[in-house]
Amino acid sequence: MTNDEFIKRAHELVDWIGYYLENLEEYPVKSQVKPGEIYSSLPQMPPMEGENFTDIFKDFNEIIMPGITHWQSPNFFAYFPANSSAPSVLAEMLIAALGAQCMIWETSPAAAELEERVMNWLRDIIGLPENFEGVIQDTASTAALAALVTARERISDFRINEKGFNGEPVYRIYSSTQTHSSIEKAVKIAGFGRSNLVKVGVRDDLSLDPDKLTEAVEKDMATGYIPCCVVATVGTTGTVAIDPVKAIGEICSKYNIWLHIDAALAGTALILPEYSWLIEGKEYIDSFVFNPHKWMFTNFDCSAYFVKNAGILIQTFEILPEYLKTRTRGQVNDYRDWGIPLGRRFRALKLWFVIRSFGLEGLRKKVRNHISYAAWLAERVKEHPAFEMTAPLSLNTVCFRYMPANRDEKSLNDINEKLNHKLNDTGRIYLTHTKINGKYSLRMVTSQTNVELKNIKRAWELITKTATAI
Ligand SMILES: *Cc1c(COP(=O)(O)O)cnc(C)c1O
Repeated sequence: MTNDEFIKRAHELVDWIGYYLENLEEYPVKSQVKPGEIYSSLPQMPPMEGENFTDIFKDFNEIIMPGITHWQSPNFFAYFPANSSAPSVLAEMLIAALGAQCMIWETSPAAAELEERVMNWLRDIIGLPENFEGVIQDTASTAALAALVTARERISDFRINEKGFNGEPVYRIYSSTQTHSSIEKAVKIAGFGRSNLVKVGVRDDLSLDPDKLTEAVEKDMATGYIPCCVVATVGTTGTVAIDPVKAIGEICSKYNIWLHIDAALAGTALILPEYSWLIEGKEYIDSFVFNPHKWMFTNFDCSAYFVKNAGILIQTFEILPEYLKTRTRGQVNDYRDWGIPLGRRFRALKLWFVIRSFGLEGLRKKVRNHISYAAWLAERVKEHPAFEMTAPLSLNTVCFRYMPANRDEKSLNDINEKLNHKLNDTGRIYLTHTKINGKYSLRMVTSQTNVELKNIKRAWELITKTATAI
């Protein structure tokens, strides 16, 4: 493609994107294709000769678009938000065009220094202590792995990095039964062994029970295990339950255990001063992650990972082959030593564009609105005689079910599952579910970047109408 053609096509695509964003609500929110439909409409062999961009883009529209679920639709209430926004998309265009590998300071000083600056901004606006330092990871899953490996090296005095687990005591990791699956994955990858992940019971609100944590830790110590790390969740995946950071932190401090906070979804609420209680006890935290790529209008990927002691993180991951030796080492941040991959995208640019475009007050306004929409919906659910909340309202997530009279639990589960599929098949909204104490529950997350109260109102109308028609 010549540069002239590139410029022409780029303008066309920007027009297409603008039109798409304007008319998003005309697509079915959840893709309605059948398994295998897209695959079988793609040719078996790649083309031998280069193709015309007009043809490629035509196939994008005809073959690919029907198989897209529209996460940016204001009628998307499923899973979690994967927010984007105009400034983030603009930054992503520049990131792709620069194509810079930001693994060390020398390979793009602006990327390293902008990352240091915006991560300090973020640390301050979410209220983490000043001695924390941040680094952008691709995902919260990677951040959890980095946290567990760092905790492993701290507890073993860096022996496991050198010699493996040979001759080591058995180390234990703790989290609640509601913890995200990425923690179990990280426990496996970091070599602890899945059987050494202790899933601690929860209280009525589905948050980790600190008394049960103490019990589990003391029982382990009495039998010769060594507690290594607790992963507390601020905003669980199922119901956005908030584990009590302070009570957990006191236990970690008493027994010399690393405390990692997984706030992937809910951490964004910390930009609101009225939610600073979410991390009360923050002085006990060793590492913390939240995802601007979920609820802070920055398109995937951008996961903000903070550590109290960057020295231990770096000592855990540092490598120094001859070809990566530089004259500036020690004076600057070489982020390849702050996590798992060597190669790094210039993700700080997205955060910089987003934070500057919205401003802190602009970000807060959106997040406050999202939380108020969930509260509005929770009120409707509570006042409706045939619906009930299945978990306490937390931030941006409402868990509820349809509950017509005289049905047993089994048939209520069947009815709600049917309701969920019926709603999604309309293409007008997209909701997902979770099971809470055995109850099949619809889960509505009211945090898509451009969602408004009118979208929630229409969704609620559709839900009640569809339910009564079942
Ligand atoms: C979404 C989520 C994750 C996983 O996030 P990725 O960035 O996709 O790895 C982990 N924990 C919680 C609580 C989440 O909500």
